[in-house]
Amino acid sequence: MAIHEECGVFGIYDMTGRNVAGDIYCALTALQHRGQESAGISVCDTHGPMGNISTKKGMGLVSEVFTKETIEGQKGNLGVGHVRYSTTGGSRVENAQPIAMNYIKGSLALVHNGNIMNAAQLKENQMYRGQAHYTSSDTEILAYEIISERTKCGCIEDAVKLASQRLRGGYACLIISPRKLIGVRDPYGIKPLIMGKRGDSYMLASESAAIVSSGGEVIRDIKPGEIITVTKDGVKSDHIPLDVKPAHCVFEYIYFARVDSVIDGVSVYSSRVRAGELLAKYSSAEADLVIGVPDSGLAAAKGYADESGIPFALAFHKNSYVGRSFIKPTDSERSDAVRMKLSVTPGIVAGKRVVLIDDSIVRGTTMRKIVAMLREAGATEVHVRVSSPPFLYPCYYGTDVPATGQLIAAEHSVEEVCKNIGADSLAYLRLEDLSEVTFGLPVGSACLDSNCPVS
Ligand code: SF4
Repeated sequence: MAIHEECGVFGIYDMTGRNVAGDIYCALTALQHRGQESAGISVCDTHGPMGNISTKKGMGLVSEVFTKETIEGQKGNLGVGHVRYSTTGGSRVENAQPIAMNYIKGSLALVHNGNIMNAAQLKENQMYRGQAHYTSSDTEILAYEIISERTKCGCIEDAVKLASQRLRGGYACLIISPRKLIGVRDPYGIKPLIMGKRGDSYMLASESAAIVSSGGEVIRDIKPGEIITVTKDGVKSDHIPLDVKPAHCVFEYIYFARVDSVIDGVSVYSSRVRAGELLAKYSSAEADLVIGVPDSGLAAAKGYADESGIPFALAFHKNSYVGRSFIKPTDSERSDAVRMKLSVTPGIVAGKRVVLIDDSIVRGTTMRKIVAMLREAGATEVHVRVSSPPFLYPCYYGTDVPATGQLIAAEHSVEEVCKNIGADSLAYLRLEDLSEVTFGLPVGSACLDSNCPVS
């Protein structure tokens, strides 16, 4: 699998006045799988002077950007953090988040996950107003939209509501103004956002795993189009007045999210197991062993094994310490990188017919290498089963699914892909099974069927 989620966000307001930078660090580490190119934290003290927001960000993993000293130096009981994997705007420190800005009525810091499809048009209007300039990032454009409205509104949450009505796309956005934590989720609920609590702290996060890792308890998911505002007086909820149907990103369940997260009431683990069961039901294979590509293929492999009665085995060791730099642009470099990241445990597959489960096939390069590694390790047959339908279209909501021309399934039949990756047979999850995989949750699937939910 080689597509990437763009970002993870986390925000926290501690009512007792305790510093929160350490909590944000823990939560961002729990969200590190959502982006490894840059990390950042903004904090402010709700009892201090208005406008004093401290921001630190840089390129690399959370543990590379922050030290004990920098975390201890960021004082404040209200804050937001961000981890980023970039597509829009490229991999540059100027695009790292949070974005902190001062304006005539105050200051804010903002982080977001997702993609604003009409950002270019908004930027043009902002340039005309003298706000944005040519190099402004999408995050800055979002901030300028809110600031424009703030000059006309009595409070920042009303400004967020007005600005959100102009945004088109999938996003989960967190904002701190010096006395408030605000979270907003796009009206389709494409990107996840969830609220939790620990003692007198309220938290907002991309995934429940970040809340739990920070010692908190999940309260509930933020609804599609909901705006949550946390102040010293508690939590209030408002809605973006757009009446559209939810279209949650199905790939959160298939691949992006951590297996221990629960998103919109659906356990990621259960969803992956169900996908495996459905694959076994509709795409059975004569085999001796079911194995999964770690990490996201493992739960689906367990589901396949449970449904088929074929024994499950852990055939791969995954080296989790291979950094982002291993992701190479060319096919041959990508293929070498697979060997760095995955190895086959000797003796497990030798002389066996195996069912190999992975969450998706993008270009085919990675899968071709994995199949070859299994044959080198002695597997007599390799039957590939994919726990998602074929990728046929790019994603416009903040995930770097490549252009159609690079998607192997868009250019070739199932038989051709099977031959290309060197497998004995190949089958995908059926498109009509997606709603069963998410237990009835309404999901979007534009990268699979071109049905774009955003008008
Ligand atoms: S197009 Fe695909 S990857 Fe993008 S948000 Fe929709 S389901 Fe998720």
